[in-house]
Order: sequence, then C-alpha cells, then structure tokens
Amino acid sequence: MSDKRTGSIIFSHIEPFAGLNAALSKTKIDILSEVRNSNLRGRGGAGFPTGIKWNLAASAKEEKKYVVCNADEGEPGTFKDRVLLTEMPEILFEGMTIAAYAIGADEGLVYLRGEYSSFFPRLEKVLQDMRAAGRLGKDILGKTGFNFDIQIRMGAGAYVCGEETALIESMEGQRGEPRNRPPFPVNTGYNGYPTIVNNIETFVNVPHIILKGAEWFKGFGTEKSAGTKLLSVSGDCKAPGVYEVEYGTSIRDVLAMVGGENVKAVQVGGASGVCLSAGEFDRKIAFEDVPTGGSFIVFNQQRDMLGAAENFLEFFKEESCGQCTPCREGIPVLIDGLKKIRAGQCRVEYVDDLLSLCETMQMASKCGLGQSVPNAFLSILKNFKNEYELVSSNK
Ligand code: SF4
Repeated sequence: MSDKRTGSIIFSHIEPFAGLNAALSKTKIDILSEVRNSNLRGRGGAGFPTGIKWNLAASAKEEKKYVVCNADEGEPGTFKDRVLLTEMPEILFEGMTIAAYAIGADEGLVYLRGEYSSFFPRLEKVLQDMRAAGRLGKDILGKTGFNFDIQIRMGAGAYVCGEETALIESMEGQRGEPRNRPPFPVNTGYNGYPTIVNNIETFVNVPHIILKGAEWFKGFGTEKSAGTKLLSVSGDCKAPGVYEVEYGTSIRDVLAMVGGENVKAVQVGGASGVCLSAGEFDRKIAFEDVPTGGSFIVFNQQRDMLGAAENFLEFFKEESCGQCTPCREGIPVLIDGLKKIRAGQCRVEYVDDLLSLCETMQMASKCGLGQSVPNAFLSILKNFKNEYELVSSNK
C-alpha cells in the first residue's frame, strides 16, 4: 500500500490474512454475529446491512452458494476501487474468503470492470499465491471441509452491470439487464443459487472487523453509519485523490482536506448522486444525510451547472439498458427539457411536467439506474435557479 495513504480502517495497516487466520479459529455463527454487530453496511451506496445479507445466505438450505464481488466500478468520478484492487487485493480476497466461510459457500467470483482488464494478471497471481499457501482450495489452512476458490470474470463496460442482478445475468452469459426483484440474489442468485453480492470496499472492511472487533469498528462514524468511507475526489481542487473519511464528516471538511477553494458545488455520488450548493456544505457524508458510493466531484464558480446536468443525462441515455419505459423514454425527455431551459425557451408549466416525470421515473423505473437519473437534474434545477430563466405562463 502507498505510504502516503492514511486512514482509520481501510488505510490502517493490518497483516494480510491475519483476519482469515482469526476467522478460522471462530465459529461461523461468531463471524456472522461480529459482522452483524459491527453495523457494516454495503459501500456501494444503498447501504444494505452486510450482516443481514450474510445471515440470509447462511440460513439458506441449498448445498451450493456463491460469494460475488462487485468490482464493476463505473460511476462517473469514482476510482477508489481501482486503488483497492492495485494496493490491497489480498485483503479483498481475504474478505471474500471469510464471507464464504461464514455463509457456507465454496465458489467466489469477482466481476471485474472491463476497463480494468490490465489488473487481471496481477490479481490472478495473488490468487495463485493464495492457493499455493493453502489460503484457497481444499481444507483451507487446515480447516477440514472448508473448500473455497475464487475466479475472475470480466465485464464488458456496461454501467448497468454494477446493478447486482444485471451483474449476475452478465456472469451467466446473458445480456447484462436487471432482473425483477424479488427474488433477491441472496435467495436466487448466480445460476439460481443463494448468492451474496458485495462490493470491494465492503469486503475490504471485513478482515479489520474480524481482527479488531465490532465495537472497535463502531467507534468510527455515526450511529447509523458505522466506519469510514473512501471518497474519490476529483474536479476543481488542489489535491484530488482517494481519501478515507469517517462517516459524519461534512462536505466542508472534505473540501478543506482536498484544497477546494472558491467552490460553487459538489456532486456527491457521481452521476446518480446529488449536487450540493455552498449552502449545504455542512451536510455530512452518511447514509442518513448524504449517502454516496464514493464519487466526490468539485465544481468551482466558473462551472456551468446546467451543462453538468446535461452531461450526466447524456451519460444515462447511453447506459440505460432500455428495458423499461420510464427510464428509456424519460431520459431523452429530460435532456430535451434541459436544452430548452438552457436556451431560455422553457415555460414554467413545462418544468412542472418535467418534475412530475422525474417522480414517475423514481417510482416506476425497474432498477437503481432509472430511479436515480433525476437526482442530479432535480438538485441542479433547485440549487442553481440563478443560472436559468423560465418563460412565464402569461407571455
Ligand atoms: Fe434498464 Fe433503466 Fe429500466 Fe434499469 S431503469 S432496467 S437501466 S431501462
């Protein structure tokens, strides 16, 4: 790991595989309880409690179960998983192996973002070394009956495959399109078997929790958001990069840390996140306030915020799988509306229509992509009213 990175949990030092050694001296029930008590929540953004997911999979009766790592980091402005993959793949695979032990899985799969294919040989080498050291394979580290191995599957560059059911479809060789839920992957996942899907950052937290305990982990962050969050900071600041911050850190404190001056706005959570204006910089990075998968884009006073919103919508138009109407048809309508607003040709009533379309998209889209498309559009329209003028109804 880079000596320059410091942090309370993920960027603190632990000996690789010390967490796995510790885990194998405990019972599966102990591991499940420790993870549940830590209040670890999925770091992809939605924040589902990891312990609950693992417990559901552990209690499934099927013989076959899978542990899947979502390494399809594709949110615009996010690059922290890239750092974890390059600097601590051992800790990631260790976290997956502990999960397999806890839920009773014998196969693990890493769904690796297509654009990260250059990491493949290095990751394979780490897996081979783990097999040679008895940390993967049969009777892992002498634990009779604990058999587990990990394969890497390459994605092909579709953003929607970051959605767990689309990811599973893609791994099964189908088009990467989200499934109807329920059933959830934890009951009917890869090849129809119970499957836990967690992202890289979630798994990387696990060896720390096993080694140092749930209480220690809960000492960081807030009551509802335990631990820390990795942020990929980019845009108009002096020191862009990957930072580990405790949940509960304000936007203002992050800006001070990264040298953000003269800042007009911060887009938190990437294209699917929200755009905060200066009046909101005391809000906190936390599931209960501003949740994020990790993207933190800084905009200075010179930036055209409506242009940024249009850019995000164009991204979603490209990436929508087209399966459901609110998302497929709604995005081009929002883009057209935004063009009218930017040109000063949009009537007040039409904006109301666009707002009601956003509501429909949030409620009726099949997956998180369509549901989150309106976030940036709505927050930018609300927060930067001084950057556009609407045509009043009596003109
Ligand atoms: Fe596909 Fe969009 Fe519907 Fe998701 S919301 S299933 S990406 S069309």
